[in-house]
Amino acid sequence: MPVSAKTRQRQITTEISKLGPCLPGNLVERTTRCGSPRCRCHHDPEYRHGPYPTWTRKIGERTVTRTLNPDQAERYRAMFDNARRLHELVTELLQLTAHQVEQAEGWPTHHGDDSNDVEDNPR
Ligand SMILES: [Zn+2]
Repeated sequence: MPVSAKTRQRQITTEISKLGPCLPGNLVERTTRCGSPRCRCHHDPEYRHGPYPTWTRKIGERTVTRTLNPDQAERYRAMFDNARRLHELVTELLQLTAHQVEQAEGWPTHHGDDSNDVEDNPR
């Protein structure tokens, strides 16, 4: 049985309060070209270096990348997971609240990728 919207709202805010540091962006494996102009990595994709763990992040229109060493990747992995979870929770909370307001006002509710198991009066 789906929990009530109020209960779910409380669960979401509680989970957010326990998340800890949230690092924006993604942790991906990426190959690179080095600084040596004569290295084969510049001409042959087969000879690119890596793959190395890389932190990619969008800042405005730009994507900023930073190569991490394995130790850094391990240390920050949980923070990326936290950020992903934070986005999920925030999205759910926003949808839940929109749904509640629509229901309270008797406005037509919008379903779609939005819908979650929070409906009190399914039709
Ligand atoms: Zn190289």
